[in-house]
Amino acid sequence: MLDKVVIANRGEIALRVLRACHTLGIRTVAVHSTVDRNLKHVAMADEAVCIGPAPAAESYLNIPRIIAAAEVTDAQAIHPGYGFLSERADFAEQVEKSGFIFIGPTAEVIRLMGDKVEAIKAMKAAGVPCVPGSDGPLPDDPAECVKIARRIGYPVIIKAAGGGGGRGMRVVHTEAHVANAVVMTRQEAKAAFGNDQVYMEKFLEHPRHVEIQVLADGQGNAIHLGERDCSMQRRHQKVVEEAPAPGITPEQRAAIGKVCVEACLRIGYRGAGTFEFLYEDGRFYFIEMNTRIQVEHPVTEFITGVDLVREQLLIAAGEKLSIRQSDIEIDGHAIECRINAEDPDTFMPCPGLVKLFHAPGGPGVRVDTHLYSGYRIPPNYDSMIGKLIVHGRDRATAIARMQLALAEMVVEGIKSNLPLQQRILADSGFQQGGMNIHYLEKRIAEQREKAIGLG
Ligand code: ADP
Repeated sequence: MLDKVVIANRGEIALRVLRACHTLGIRTVAVHSTVDRNLKHVAMADEAVCIGPAPAAESYLNIPRIIAAAEVTDAQAIHPGYGFLSERADFAEQVEKSGFIFIGPTAEVIRLMGDKVEAIKAMKAAGVPCVPGSDGPLPDDPAECVKIARRIGYPVIIKAAGGGGGRGMRVVHTEAHVANAVVMTRQEAKAAFGNDQVYMEKFLEHPRHVEIQVLADGQGNAIHLGERDCSMQRRHQKVVEEAPAPGITPEQRAAIGKVCVEACLRIGYRGAGTFEFLYEDGRFYFIEMNTRIQVEHPVTEFITGVDLVREQLLIAAGEKLSIRQSDIEIDGHAIECRINAEDPDTFMPCPGLVKLFHAPGGPGVRVDTHLYSGYRIPPNYDSMIGKLIVHGRDRATAIARMQLALAEMVVEGIKSNLPLQQRILADSGFQQGGMNIHYLEKRIAEQREKAIGLG
């Protein structure tokens, strides 16, 4: 078993990883920036090391300082959480080269999945259904690009091979715009990701976002833990997630899950991972794989009873998966609301002093947050301040529990998106379930028009 782990992250996920470590009797090292001395997990960790000033580039993204923290504390392994360095192949490589265990897949696999053109190629070869597309990077010749678009059929979407965070994408509806869109996306991709490769896919017009959670030990064993529906998005950012996905049958789940498990074995996957799909008219289309723990992992934990972070630690310690596919049963329904320090109407971040925080409770309620009364949210990082997750025997029970929990939660001193989450939970489309990825933005736009007298 591991003895001591460095948690190379902050906020709620750092606390989540710390709890999993302590449950297994593993000691923890918190690394933090100068503005993060007052984080809850820093107080709870066995040791803490300040790794630099507030800007992430000088602390949470500073590879030498994080590895130095592991050296001086004599730790064995580093957990990257999500965001920051979690999907950086060079980080995984340097961690391992320095003699520590990277809690995640191998650097090669991270690199493969980080290049979407290569990832799609590998997935197609493994039998994973993908969006019809250019099957490789787009050529420079505009006439060739038009030919490819014609073969795929309009509308198409031009995407950056190195893209992430919903950036570096452009939808094209007509032939006249293809050449220009390719040039523009290429320029943006070069500037944002340092890689000017772009590719083309059929643009699906009303898909849902449905993703499959997997666990693999890198020793020939892999399982899937069903799916999550993350279609409630704003600007490609997930706002509410749930599991299972409304309307997905056990047969569909088993079939797509099996495909993902086989792909894991084929690429030598190790750790927790997620296959992201667009789901339209009853069919799954792979878009990308996330090679880390995800924000929305708790909904899967609720319906399967599996502690995913604990499994990550056990796999990193070299243990074989102790859970078999036949052990996984879907129990009830879980929903997660992301709680952000932001204005619920303008979406502007609202950092500052949390004068009062009160967490909701009751059966089937889980609160993953680092907030406490008197905590000051620094302006330097992501605005997500926690997650509210509920579980019930069915979707209606979960919705009712979430509505109660949202009403019970108190965050004073800063603005939060709690009012927006309450509106979403009360929305008839959300309550019906199975809405597509454009639904939330459409509803927000409609409500705004109404508020300013256009509705
Ligand atoms: P990123 O890594 O930037 O998140 P993804 O490939 O996961 O990029 O795509 C992000 C989002 O963009 C998807 O969740 C979806 O909303 C939209 N999208 C991507 N590809 C397509 C497509 N082929 N058709 C329709 N929407 C798409």
